[in-house]
Amino acid sequence: MLFGRFVHGDQKWIGSLEDEHTVRVWSAFPYSGGQPTDRYLPTRSIRILAPVEPSKIVAVGRNFAEHAAELGNAVPSEPLLFLKPPSSLLPHGGEIELPTASDRVEYEGELAVVIGKRTRCSSPDSSKDAVFGLTCANDVTARDLQKKDVQFTRGKGFDTFCPLGPWITTGLDIDAAREIRTTLNGAVVQQGNTHQMVFGIAQLISYISQVMTLEPGDVILTGTPKGVGPLAPGDRIEVNIEGLATLSNLARHRD
Ligand code: ZN
Repeated sequence: MLFGRFVHGDQKWIGSLEDEHTVRVWSAFPYSGGQPTDRYLPTRSIRILAPVEPSKIVAVGRNFAEHAAELGNAVPSEPLLFLKPPSSLLPHGGEIELPTASDRVEYEGELAVVIGKRTRCSSPDSSKDAVFGLTCANDVTARDLQKKDVQFTRGKGFDTFCPLGPWITTGLDIDAAREIRTTLNGAVVQQGNTHQMVFGIAQLISYISQVMTLEPGDVILTGTPKGVGPLAPGDRIEVNIEGLATLSNLARHRD
């Protein structure tokens, strides 16, 4: 199923996409005990929001060998973790704001994992049960500031630097090989596959959960394949992952 959040009227709702034209309202996400209601809305009457409200977004750096190499980095022996603030979330269709503080803001198309169960110190084997679903993300990065600051908080943390969505797809095999494709103004700029990840989804959940408790709705960004590059005002950037809906955003100057 496809789950998400949206605005209809002046209220926020959680729901499932039934078909191209219809969403069904749920009382809450299933991981919070939510149930489907009898209320259906036409998709043309909704505005999509970021699909979850996470307590944290945990991202993984250098999880594709060819991407680590293109930035002159070695592949780490353990997952390299950093956090993006929930305030960086941007829905499908929202505009990525290019801040004046940076001369080089780059796209990073990534598979995102949404957690569905409180998870602490899980083994890789049991980590699969922690997954609610998968969606697309763009780990937008001010590359110059990331290099300058040593740590990643500013370079990865601006408002609008975490496009996510449009929908969370549940019931997928998390071990399946999926193509990750990023297009810039229609041209393919990144093409990778989840089987190229240095650390797989279950390994990442286990590793992260030794450090911090993962809560339902938390998001893990699993790293980007090679081919990252800069965004200019007016660019349309799209992340397409096999089996998932496409995440599309425009870039513009920050006012
Ligand atoms: Zn990334």
